[in-house]
Amino acid sequence: MSAVKTIETFCPECDCEVTASIELRAETLPVKGEPTSYDAEIAVCPCCGKAIGDSRIEEGNLRRAYSAYCAAHGVMAPDEVRELRNSYGLSLREFSKFLGFGEQTVARYEAGAVPDDSHNTTLMLASTTLGAASLLSVREGHLSERTAAAVRRFIEGGAPFSGAAGAFVSRQWPTPEMLKPSSLNGFRPFSLNRVAAVMCELASRCKDLYKTKLQKAMFFTDFLCYARTARSMTGLAYAHADYGPVVDGWDGIVATLKEAGTIELSEMDWGEIVLPKCCPEGVLSDDELRLLDEVASLVDTFRTSSVISSFSHELDAWKHTKNGQFIEYDSNSAQVEDAIIRRMADWL
Ligand SMILES: [Zn+2]
Repeated sequence: MSAVKTIETFCPECDCEVTASIELRAETLPVKGEPTSYDAEIAVCPCCGKAIGDSRIEEGNLRRAYSAYCAAHGVMAPDEVRELRNSYGLSLREFSKFLGFGEQTVARYEAGAVPDDSHNTTLMLASTTLGAASLLSVREGHLSERTAAAVRRFIEGGAPFSGAAGAFVSRQWPTPEMLKPSSLNGFRPFSLNRVAAVMCELASRCKDLYKTKLQKAMFFTDFLCYARTARSMTGLAYAHADYGPVVDGWDGIVATLKEAGTIELSEMDWGEIVLPKCCPEGVLSDDELRLLDEVASLVDTFRTSSVISSFSHELDAWKHTKNGQFIEYDSNSAQVEDAIIRRMADWL
């Protein structure tokens, strides 16, 4: 038998102290002017059977109504904000600072205020490893070493937060390995900031940049950059798929950058094209921007996605790997560079 939740309270009807049992009833409360249905807790007197008003329970019901409102609107609820902050192990002030909010902001959200849209997006980002890594790369200069270390632990722990609102990208990506330089990421730790800059710059340079075409453009960018500098530009890893190399974690990255307002997606004849919205500035060097000019002119030589696929199918990077297998930078970048140079020479 499950234990019944009770509360020690006073029944005005019976005029005595009682142990009231707590029951759930469907109720409606206005939240931000909107009637919101939620399960209210009601204390019921064991003697007279009447509902007892108790401020502790009413406060809880207010929180429940807010949570119901937040769940219905995809907004992070007060309890979730607190839970998220606890999984970082940060104080109210430190967490506010990490998110780039005013000092009291997180305290207000935990107390029940409903986050505005842009703050909600940031909170959602902070609930995933990808978002946490991206926020850290932007905010690190403003944080104490202690705070930065706590954020790194959150990322390395695979974002141990399981709130109901935060599930909009995979929490397990990037894996801790992707945040260390390795042969798979071209000896650069994954940087969402750099991915955002490269994606946005390519989208502003290329005509009708379909999502599938952009993945190949990213591959050419990173492998060409590796051939010339022994480092990738973004820290992304690429895997073999039927139609050519694909970015590891692609859907989550695109969703995150769309949510963050870096890029826009627009439905076209053969799928979605990527448009630049707000390019992060000062992230890439002049040499890197020149390399993106080259890649953009290469991509514009491929009129369709199938032409670009057959081009990548000629590469050892594709021929020597199987479906789902990662493509090594070291053994493949020189050939990718050669193929790009030949293609451009033939084209001119
Ligand atoms: Zn009573």
